[in-house]
Amino acid sequence: MGYQFDRRGFMIIPDPREYRRTKEEQKQKCVVATEAYCPNGHNLIDDYVNFNGFGGIKLKIRRPNGEEGFMVLSPIFGDKTVVYIGTKPADGEKLEVFCPECGTAIPVLKPCDECTGGELRVLSVEPKFTVSDGIAFCDLVGCPSAYIISAGELIERAYIEGLE
Ligand SMILES: [Zn+2]
Ligand SMILES: [Zn+2]
Repeated sequence: MGYQFDRRGFMIIPDPREYRRTKEEQKQKCVVATEAYCPNGHNLIDDYVNFNGFGGIKLKIRRPNGEEGFMVLSPIFGDKTVVYIGTKPADGEKLEVFCPECGTAIPVLKPCDECTGGELRVLSVEPKFTVSDGIAFCDLVGCPSAYIISAGELIERAYIEGLE
């Protein structure tokens, strides 16, 4: 990863994923988002569901059938764990995603490269909304990249593709 995470809003931790069994693998580190904000500055990190001791990123969702609920994303980069509350979307459904506090739609950064029809939504790690320091995730259930990633790396590509 050519991206710097030693800033506010991120934390480097030992990789907690259980499949890393060998000593060498256990030494590997991963990155956790400790802050995530909607465009209106609401902090979406919620301790209601925690992932290896870190609060998840709680979002309001609306399914194609109109059913609403919440999803809580793992704040650990690359971790696909997601918890649904109040509704259980099926693989392949594209979700509308909102701030649970103010109901603002979470902005779309660009179409997802890893699936058909999904879009990458972006959150800020600073209260003053900025996508360049943001984290992104795909809104299509079951997408191979349905976990948080650094928006910084994507933005350059988005500019190149003329979508920003
Ligand atoms: Zn909000
Ligand atoms: Zn996707």
